[in-house]
Amino acid sequence: MNKAFFFDMDGILFDSMPNHARAWEEVMTRHGLDFRAEDCYINEGRTGQDVIHEAIIALEGRESTEDEIWDIYEEKTRRFYELGPTYPIKDVDKVLRYLRKRECQIWVVTGSGQATLFDHLNEVFPVEGKNPIFTRERMVTAFDVSKGKPDPEPYLKAWQKSGLRKDQCYVIENAPLGVRSGKGAELTVLAVNTGPLAPKALYDERADYVFDDMAGLLQWLQNNV
Ligand code: CA
Repeated sequence: MNKAFFFDMDGILFDSMPNHARAWEEVMTRHGLDFRAEDCYINEGRTGQDVIHEAIIALEGRESTEDEIWDIYEEKTRRFYELGPTYPIKDVDKVLRYLRKRECQIWVVTGSGQATLFDHLNEVFPVEGKNPIFTRERMVTAFDVSKGKPDPEPYLKAWQKSGLRKDQCYVIENAPLGVRSGKGAELTVLAVNTGPLAPKALYDERADYVFDDMAGLLQWLQNNV
């Protein structure tokens, strides 16, 4: 247990970004905000509330109200679920099984506030034996932080709770703002580029490694962990 891996959720554990992007575009457009699917990938990692807050400032030049943030966020969450279930990212189960075999700590660090997804993690990623891969104690979610990604707070919080040194902790991220959060916390960031952005967007945020897919990450882990 002398290494900890902090997994982002959307785009790392779940192939959920295409549905998130579609839901954001539809709901923001309905509220008169010109927010496209690609804006979703650029903003990925922020909490839903921050995405709405920033979009209203940028597109309408005014502050948002608490009520409208919650209205839009609820509508977006509902639309996301209507679009159907999301499935794990290819080969991430192999990465989890490998790290588990190596007795590493496995954490989820996400801007998501979708509690049902957290409950389903152990159904989606079952493990042989009695201990689950994911526990609520090893999750940092939108409910646990005052500042979400790209602020370093979520990853700092996971590091503090891990009880390990920073050089024993690794962030696994797919989004530029998530990489910024991890590097702001002075941790090693292993980026897996599962979305449509160019790898440069991840290197520009100082990702230590950028892999095309989970198979690439697994190979690196097998050589280094
Ligand atoms: Ca992500």
